Amino acid sequence: MKKPTLLNHPPETTPPPGNAPVIAPIYQSVKYEFETVDETLQMLRGQKPGYFYMRASNPTTRQLELTLAQLQGRDDCLATASGVNAIAQTLLALTKAGDHVLFFIETYGPTRNIIRRLLARFGVENTMLSIEDLAGVENVLATRPTRLVLFESPTNPMLKVADIERLVELAHRHGALAVVDNTFAGFHQHGEYDIDLFVHSLTKYASGTGDVMGGAVIGRQELIDDLRPDFAVLGALLDPHAAFLLQRGLKTYFVRYREQTRNAQAVAEHLAAHPAVAKVHYPGLSTHPQAALAKKQMRDAGTVLSFDLKAGSEAARRFSENLQLFALTASLGSTESLVMAPQLMGSRDFTPDQARQSGMGPGTVRLSIGLEDVEDLLADIDQALATPPG
Ligand SMILES: *Cc1c(COP(=O)(O)O)cnc(C)c1O
Repeated sequence: MKKPTLLNHPPETTPPPGNAPVIAPIYQSVKYEFETVDETLQMLRGQKPGYFYMRASNPTTRQLELTLAQLQGRDDCLATASGVNAIAQTLLALTKAGDHVLFFIETYGPTRNIIRRLLARFGVENTMLSIEDLAGVENVLATRPTRLVLFESPTNPMLKVADIERLVELAHRHGALAVVDNTFAGFHQHGEYDIDLFVHSLTKYASGTGDVMGGAVIGRQELIDDLRPDFAVLGALLDPHAAFLLQRGLKTYFVRYREQTRNAQAVAEHLAAHPAVAKVHYPGLSTHPQAALAKKQMRDAGTVLSFDLKAGSEAARRFSENLQLFALTASLGSTESLVMAPQLMGSRDFTPDQARQSGMGPGTVRLSIGLEDVEDLLADIDQALATPPG
């Protein structure tokens, strides 16, 4: 054969049977072939395992999906290009015009946008309550046929703990699906509750290093099978290169989550004792309004906390800027610590009443605690709190 032909049919170097790579390779191939048309048709009809086109599935992403399903304690998973994409596709796949969705003021901002702007354009109606308003939840579900209830626990940025058992029971009693954005709690928590679908941002704890984006929806087989055709036509399957990096990140998931939680607990206790701090919001503190619920519901209190500075918004801005080890930016769950100033967390879509119910104050700062030595983090926090204006 001539060289242009050879270049497009390179030598085969797949290891022989019995000679497996210890780490699964990245299957960076859009297409997969069988030798015959019949075998291809059998695979496409689901009568034979295999792969055909990367948008539908690929071995690297599939390995990650199965790993995540095991970790969350469910049958199956679909991985997507971002967390927001997993949420958008799940909501699009589950709803139709005339359906009603119940969600909460404490829901992640872009998710609120998906429900209030995107879904609303397609005739999907919604009600937004406070996650603390269980009587309101009961009342809405009793009076309005509802397709699904979507909530988070703990919530962002006030770390409110949702009563999962109660919310799921209410949803199911009224024929609604319980969908939980479990990003903050992580993949190893809440699996024992009768939650129908978990959605996750993989960008946070799965990667751990903050260098790759991804999302996932995890649930029992028939629900994931129902979602799959819509996910396939929406066409945002997680890329295998990103899936490889996330799979690699997950190897250290438990070590990171637990160590960062230990650091967060220490930071929360330190801040709670600081005279400049009015209140610390962290499920691992005995002063948390739902400390007992958090203890019952969570194995680990998590790596994110927030607190209110007595001196208000300008002091919070200065504190956020004065920190040396904490990057002033969005996101959480990475091995480096991060800070969000109140000016960057506002919710312009809230009425004054909703803003009050959210619990955020002018001096509320959110911290995501990383893997640094905790004494260095505490020293940095102390110097940032001590720096005078100027
Ligand atoms: C970050 C985040 C998302 C969105 O995930 P991306 O991967 O950034 O799209 C959704 N929900 C929660 C609770 C998050 O923290």
